[in-house]
Amino acid sequence: MGLSASVLSELKTNIESLGLSADDKALQKFSMLYDLLIAKNEVMNLTAITDEREVAVKHFYDSLTLVKDQKIRNLLENGCRVCDLGTGAGFPGIPIKILFPNVKITFVDSVNKKLLYIDETLTALGLHDGCSICHSRAEDLGHDKASRETFDLVTSRAVANMTTLSEYCLPLVKPGGYFTAMKGGKAETESEITAAEKAVAFLGGKIIFTTGFDLPDQMGERTIVTIRKTKTTPKKYPRKAGLPSKEPLS
Ligand code: SAH
Repeated sequence: MGLSASVLSELKTNIESLGLSADDKALQKFSMLYDLLIAKNEVMNLTAITDEREVAVKHFYDSLTLVKDQKIRNLLENGCRVCDLGTGAGFPGIPIKILFPNVKITFVDSVNKKLLYIDETLTALGLHDGCSICHSRAEDLGHDKASRETFDLVTSRAVANMTTLSEYCLPLVKPGGYFTAMKGGKAETESEITAAEKAVAFLGGKIIFTTGFDLPDQMGERTIVTIRKTKTTPKKYPRKAGLPSKEPLS
């Protein structure tokens, strides 16, 4: 069981191409994570991707590509406080925790049973230290005193367009911290960025880094966008549940 030796060796090479290293212990955790994900996916809807090579590239490797931004890599290496907003089956948070065990991650989703899977999985992988799950909508968490403007890094993959996502994520970032959006193709992300520019500024952010790249084996185009929080977010944001996606700021 677990990932086959050839998939594990490709995963190791791909991780090394990011300038990170994956020792046997980390690879063993990715292999276990694959088994746990596939087993739970039989009883609940966690992922449409189940082929082991695809999971290794599109979920595991892809989740680590935010280190393409050196500032984010430094933060993770220093064990910063991270929020994975709309984490679903734990991406990008679980792969990040496997490679950076000192980071403290809050896994947030509006669907509780996904969080229960993440909780069990972190325990099974011996990675629960410093992690917590949080069943909330971004629109509510952004007004929770214990969470608002407290994270060094908020990251989010495949949750919403840049404008909506900025309203979900920026209120949670502490001033001076970062929000990293993990997006799809470069062209579509660029048009989302253009549409989001005003909203980002208004919410206290500044886009400081964008990079487009291809996943290995032509498994798709991705774009990483980093926004630095330069100012406090005005108190009324995020607006009430549903509004950031129904009526994106303009
Ligand atoms: N980040 C994961 C999951 C993406 S699917 C991945 O890349 O694989 C989007 C997830 O975001 C879903 O699990 C959904 O429940 C969650 N989500 C969507 N809107 C949300 C909101 N407003 N607040 C919290 N979670 C939300």
